[in-house]
Amino acid sequence: MGNESHNAVKYSEEFRKWSEVLGCGDPESAMLTLASSLRNELLASRRSRKGLPVLADELAGLRGIIEFRVRNIDHTAALVIMKNGFACVLSTGESRGVRRNFAVAHEIGHTEFFDISCWPPKPVLQLDLMNSRAAERLCNIFAGALLIPEEQLDSIVQALQRDLSFTRIDYLAESFHVSREVLIRRLAESKRFSCEQECIAVLKRLQIPNAAVYTVETIIPPIGSRFLLGERTFPIGRDAAVVQALLDDKETICHFEIKEYGSPHTGYALAIGMIEFTDP
Ligand SMILES: [Zn+2]
Repeated sequence: MGNESHNAVKYSEEFRKWSEVLGCGDPESAMLTLASSLRNELLASRRSRKGLPVLADELAGLRGIIEFRVRNIDHTAALVIMKNGFACVLSTGESRGVRRNFAVAHEIGHTEFFDISCWPPKPVLQLDLMNSRAAERLCNIFAGALLIPEEQLDSIVQALQRDLSFTRIDYLAESFHVSREVLIRRLAESKRFSCEQECIAVLKRLQIPNAAVYTVETIIPPIGSRFLLGERTFPIGRDAAVVQALLDDKETICHFEIKEYGSPHTGYALAIGMIEFTDP
Protein backbone atom coordinates (compact mmCIF):
# COMPACT_ATOMS: atom_id res chain seq x y z
CA MET A 1 0.00 0.00 0.00
CA GLY A 2 1.53 3.30 -1.00
CA ASN A 3 1.12 6.85 0.13
CA GLU A 4 0.98 8.42 -3.32
CA SER A 5 -1.29 11.37 -3.76
CA HIS A 6 -4.58 10.90 -5.49
CA ASN A 7 -4.00 12.76 -8.67
CA ALA A 8 -5.25 11.35 -11.92
CA VAL A 9 -3.59 8.07 -12.85
CA LYS A 10 -3.40 6.64 -16.34
CA TYR A 11 -4.38 3.01 -16.64
CA SER A 12 -2.51 0.80 -19.06
CA GLU A 13 -4.21 -1.27 -21.73
CA GLU A 14 -3.97 -4.36 -19.54
CA PHE A 15 -6.00 -2.74 -16.74
CA ARG A 16 -8.61 -1.70 -19.27
CA LYS A 17 -8.85 -5.22 -20.67
CA TRP A 18 -9.18 -6.59 -17.12
CA SER A 19 -12.10 -4.26 -16.42
CA GLU A 20 -13.77 -5.18 -19.71
CA VAL A 21 -13.60 -8.87 -18.82
CA LEU A 22 -15.47 -7.93 -15.62
CA GLY A 23 -18.08 -6.13 -17.72
CA CYS A 24 -17.07 -2.66 -16.50
CA GLY A 25 -16.19 0.35 -18.60
CA ASP A 26 -13.01 1.30 -16.76
CA PRO A 27 -10.76 0.00 -13.95
CA GLU A 28 -12.13 2.38 -11.30
CA SER A 29 -15.74 1.33 -11.86
CA ALA A 30 -14.56 -2.29 -11.85
CA MET A 31 -13.14 -1.74 -8.36
CA LEU A 32 -16.36 -0.07 -7.17
CA THR A 33 -18.40 -2.99 -8.50
CA LEU A 34 -16.11 -5.59 -6.91
CA ALA A 35 -16.23 -3.79 -3.54
CA SER A 36 -19.98 -3.56 -3.61
CA SER A 37 -20.48 -7.22 -4.48
CA LEU A 38 -18.08 -8.36 -1.76
CA ARG A 39 -19.95 -6.23 0.78
CA ASN A 40 -23.27 -7.64 -0.36
CA GLU A 41 -21.90 -11.16 -0.06
CA LEU A 42 -21.12 -10.51 3.61
CA LEU A 43 -24.40 -8.73 4.32
CA ALA A 44 -26.37 -11.59 2.75
CA SER A 45 -24.74 -13.99 5.20
CA ARG A 46 -25.48 -11.74 8.20
CA ARG A 47 -28.84 -12.34 9.76
CA SER A 48 -28.96 -9.27 11.91
CA ARG A 49 -26.73 -6.22 12.38
CA LYS A 50 -27.33 -5.25 8.75
CA GLY A 51 -27.06 -1.55 9.45
CA LEU A 52 -23.79 -1.61 11.35
CA PRO A 53 -20.49 -0.68 9.70
CA VAL A 54 -18.85 -3.49 7.81
CA LEU A 55 -15.31 -4.06 9.03
CA ALA A 56 -12.55 -5.10 6.66
CA ASP A 57 -11.46 -7.90 9.03
CA GLU A 58 -14.88 -9.54 8.57
CA LEU A 59 -14.59 -9.39 4.77
CA ALA A 60 -11.00 -10.61 4.47
CA GLY A 61 -11.88 -14.30 4.74
CA LEU A 62 -14.18 -14.08 1.72
CA ARG A 63 -11.11 -13.18 -0.39
CA GLY A 64 -8.81 -15.86 0.99
CA ILE A 65 -7.04 -13.83 3.71
CA ILE A 66 -6.68 -16.31 6.55
CA GLU A 67 -4.06 -14.69 8.73
CA PHE A 68 -3.00 -11.25 9.98
CA ARG A 69 0.53 -10.46 11.07
CA VAL A 70 1.90 -7.28 12.55
CA ARG A 71 5.52 -6.55 11.60
CA ASN A 72 7.91 -3.68 11.72
CA ILE A 73 7.82 -2.94 7.97
CA ASP A 74 8.35 0.44 6.28
CA HIS A 75 5.35 0.23 3.95
CA THR A 76 1.89 0.14 5.50
CA ALA A 77 0.76 -3.37 4.55
CA ALA A 78 1.41 -6.28 2.20
CA LEU A 79 -0.10 -9.53 1.04
CA VAL A 80 1.81 -12.83 1.29
CA ILE A 81 0.74 -16.00 -0.51
CA MET A 82 0.86 -18.98 1.86
CA LYS A 83 0.02 -22.66 1.46
CA ASN A 84 -3.72 -22.30 2.09
CA GLY A 85 -4.46 -18.63 1.81
CA PHE A 86 -3.13 -15.08 2.00
CA ALA A 87 -1.50 -13.53 5.04
CA CYS A 88 -2.09 -9.81 5.43
CA VAL A 89 1.03 -8.22 6.93
CA LEU A 90 0.42 -4.90 8.67
CA SER A 91 2.94 -2.40 9.90
CA THR A 92 2.73 -1.49 13.59
CA GLY A 93 1.18 1.85 12.68
CA GLU A 94 -1.65 0.10 10.83
CA SER A 95 -2.33 -2.62 13.37
CA ARG A 96 -5.28 -1.00 15.13
CA GLY A 97 -8.36 1.14 14.76
CA VAL A 98 -9.38 2.99 11.64
CA ARG A 99 -5.91 2.70 10.10
CA ARG A 100 -6.11 -1.07 10.33
CA ASN A 101 -9.60 -1.07 8.85
CA PHE A 102 -8.43 0.86 5.81
CA ALA A 103 -5.14 -1.04 5.39
CA VAL A 104 -6.93 -4.41 5.47
CA ALA A 105 -9.61 -3.15 3.05
CA HIS A 106 -6.83 -1.95 0.72
CA GLU A 107 -5.11 -5.37 0.83
CA ILE A 108 -8.43 -7.09 0.10
CA GLY A 109 -8.41 -4.88 -3.00
CA HIS A 110 -5.07 -6.43 -4.03
CA THR A 111 -6.61 -9.93 -3.82
CA GLU A 112 -8.95 -8.86 -6.64
CA PHE A 113 -5.94 -9.05 -8.98
CA PHE A 114 -5.84 -12.81 -8.37
CA ASP A 115 -8.14 -15.61 -9.37
CA ILE A 116 -8.61 -17.29 -5.98
CA SER A 117 -10.81 -20.12 -7.24
CA CYS A 118 -7.65 -22.25 -7.34
CA TRP A 119 -4.65 -22.30 -4.98
CA PRO A 120 -1.97 -21.00 -5.32
CA PRO A 121 -4.02 -18.11 -6.68
CA LYS A 122 -3.53 -17.15 -10.32
CA PRO A 123 -2.52 -13.53 -11.02
CA VAL A 124 -4.87 -11.93 -13.54
CA LEU A 125 -2.43 -9.08 -14.30
CA GLN A 126 1.29 -8.99 -14.96
CA LEU A 127 3.19 -8.98 -11.67
CA ASP A 128 4.79 -5.56 -12.17
CA LEU A 129 1.34 -4.02 -12.75
CA MET A 130 -0.05 -5.52 -9.56
CA ASN A 131 2.18 -3.26 -7.45
CA SER A 132 2.11 -0.25 -9.76
CA ARG A 133 0.94 3.22 -8.79
CA ALA A 134 -2.25 2.56 -10.76
CA ALA A 135 -2.90 -0.62 -8.74
CA GLU A 136 -2.33 1.27 -5.47
CA ARG A 137 -4.83 3.90 -6.47
CA LEU A 138 -7.36 1.24 -7.51
CA CYS A 139 -6.96 -0.51 -4.15
CA ASN A 140 -7.52 2.78 -2.31
CA ILE A 141 -10.70 3.34 -4.33
CA PHE A 142 -11.76 -0.23 -3.57
CA ALA A 143 -11.13 0.25 0.16
CA GLY A 144 -13.10 3.50 0.27
CA ALA A 145 -16.07 1.88 -1.46
CA LEU A 146 -15.87 -1.24 0.68
CA LEU A 147 -16.05 0.75 3.93
CA ILE A 148 -18.33 3.59 2.76
CA PRO A 149 -20.79 2.07 0.29
CA GLU A 150 -22.34 3.91 -2.61
CA GLU A 151 -25.87 3.59 -1.25
CA GLN A 152 -24.96 5.51 1.91
CA LEU A 153 -23.28 8.45 0.20
CA ASP A 154 -26.51 10.41 -0.21
CA SER A 155 -27.29 10.31 3.48
CA ILE A 156 -23.72 11.39 4.32
CA VAL A 157 -24.02 14.30 1.91
CA GLN A 158 -27.40 15.31 3.38
CA ALA A 159 -26.00 15.18 6.91
CA LEU A 160 -23.13 17.47 5.91
CA GLN A 161 -25.41 19.85 4.05
CA ARG A 162 -27.49 20.24 7.20
CA ASP A 163 -24.49 20.65 9.44
CA LEU A 164 -21.05 21.15 7.91
CA SER A 165 -18.96 21.01 11.07
CA PHE A 166 -15.94 19.20 12.45
CA THR A 167 -18.20 17.43 14.96
CA ARG A 168 -20.41 16.08 12.15
CA ILE A 169 -17.39 14.92 10.13
CA ASP A 170 -16.04 13.14 13.24
CA TYR A 171 -19.39 11.48 13.88
CA LEU A 172 -19.71 10.26 10.27
CA ALA A 173 -16.13 8.98 10.10
CA GLU A 174 -16.60 7.11 13.39
CA SER A 175 -19.85 5.53 12.26
CA PHE A 176 -18.07 3.94 9.26
CA HIS A 177 -14.95 3.22 11.29
CA VAL A 178 -12.76 5.20 8.89
CA SER A 179 -10.46 8.19 9.32
CA ARG A 180 -11.68 11.70 8.50
CA GLU A 181 -9.30 11.71 5.52
CA VAL A 182 -10.81 8.53 4.08
CA LEU A 183 -14.32 9.93 4.47
CA ILE A 184 -13.45 13.21 2.74
CA ARG A 185 -11.56 11.45 -0.06
CA ARG A 186 -14.50 9.12 -0.67
CA LEU A 187 -16.84 12.10 -0.92
CA ALA A 188 -14.42 13.94 -3.21
CA GLU A 189 -14.05 10.95 -5.54
CA SER A 190 -17.77 10.31 -5.70
CA LYS A 191 -18.39 13.98 -6.63
CA ARG A 192 -21.60 13.92 -4.61
CA PHE A 193 -21.16 16.71 -2.12
CA SER A 194 -23.29 19.59 -3.28
CA CYS A 195 -23.12 22.65 -1.11
CA GLU A 196 -23.24 25.81 -3.18
CA GLN A 197 -20.80 27.94 -1.30
CA GLU A 198 -18.96 25.63 1.02
CA CYS A 199 -15.99 23.34 0.60
CA ILE A 200 -14.01 20.88 2.69
CA ALA A 201 -10.27 20.28 2.38
CA VAL A 202 -7.78 17.85 3.86
CA LEU A 203 -4.51 19.64 4.46
CA LYS A 204 -1.17 17.86 4.77
CA ARG A 205 1.60 19.29 6.85
CA LEU A 206 4.69 20.08 4.81
CA GLN A 207 7.99 18.86 6.22
CA ILE A 208 9.87 22.13 5.88
CA PRO A 209 12.09 23.17 8.80
CA ASN A 210 11.13 26.53 10.34
CA ALA A 211 8.33 27.02 7.84
CA ALA A 212 5.38 25.25 9.28
CA VAL A 213 2.78 25.22 6.50
CA TYR A 214 0.05 23.02 5.09
CA THR A 215 -0.72 22.10 1.54
CA VAL A 216 -4.03 20.92 0.10
CA GLU A 217 -4.29 17.16 -0.38
CA THR A 218 -7.98 16.56 -1.10
CA ILE A 219 -10.63 19.14 -1.67
CA ILE A 220 -14.36 18.91 -2.15
CA PRO A 221 -15.43 21.93 -4.14
CA PRO A 222 -18.98 23.20 -4.44
CA ILE A 223 -20.90 20.98 -6.84
CA GLY A 224 -20.06 21.15 -10.52
CA SER A 225 -17.31 23.71 -10.12
CA ARG A 226 -13.62 23.72 -10.68
CA PHE A 227 -11.94 25.01 -7.58
CA LEU A 228 -8.28 25.84 -7.67
CA LEU A 229 -6.36 26.09 -4.45
CA GLY A 230 -3.21 24.73 -6.07
CA GLU A 231 -0.09 24.80 -3.98
CA ARG A 232 -1.40 27.34 -1.52
CA THR A 233 -0.31 26.94 2.04
CA PHE A 234 -2.06 27.49 5.33
CA PRO A 235 -0.54 28.76 8.54
CA ILE A 236 -0.05 26.18 11.26
CA GLY A 237 -1.37 26.77 14.74
CA ARG A 238 -4.23 29.04 13.75
CA ASP A 239 -7.81 27.94 13.65
CA ALA A 240 -8.81 30.16 10.75
CA ALA A 241 -7.38 31.37 7.45
CA VAL A 242 -8.54 33.59 4.65
CA VAL A 243 -7.22 32.69 1.20
CA GLN A 244 -7.92 33.86 -2.31
CA ALA A 245 -8.81 31.15 -4.79
CA LEU A 246 -10.21 30.68 -8.26
CA LEU A 247 -13.59 29.05 -8.61
CA ASP A 248 -14.53 28.40 -12.23
CA ASP A 249 -12.03 31.14 -13.11
CA LYS A 250 -13.85 33.62 -10.85
CA GLU A 251 -11.97 35.29 -8.02
CA THR A 252 -13.17 34.19 -4.62
CA ILE A 253 -12.16 34.61 -1.04
CA CYS A 254 -12.43 31.55 1.19
CA HIS A 255 -12.85 31.84 4.89
CA PHE A 256 -11.49 28.60 6.29
CA GLU A 257 -11.97 27.17 9.73
CA ILE A 258 -9.05 24.86 10.44
CA LYS A 259 -8.71 21.99 12.88
CA GLU A 260 -5.46 20.10 13.38
CA TYR A 261 -5.14 16.40 14.09
CA GLY A 262 -2.29 14.04 14.89
CA SER A 263 1.32 14.70 15.75
CA PRO A 264 3.28 17.73 14.52
CA HIS A 265 5.22 15.55 12.06
CA THR A 266 2.64 13.17 10.65
CA GLY A 267 -0.43 15.24 11.34
CA TYR A 268 -2.95 16.74 9.04
CA ALA A 269 -5.75 19.26 9.29
CA LEU A 270 -9.27 19.64 8.03
CA ALA A 271 -10.43 22.94 6.64
CA ILE A 272 -14.04 23.89 6.13
CA GLY A 273 -14.39 26.85 3.82
CA MET A 274 -17.10 29.36 3.16
CA ILE A 275 -16.65 30.90 -0.27
CA GLU A 276 -17.26 34.51 -1.05
CA PHE A 277 -17.28 35.70 -4.67
CA THR A 278 -15.41 38.94 -5.11
CA ASP A 279 -16.43 39.51 -8.76
CA PRO A 280 -19.80 41.17 -9.19
ZN1 LIG B 1 -1.16 -1.59 -1.94
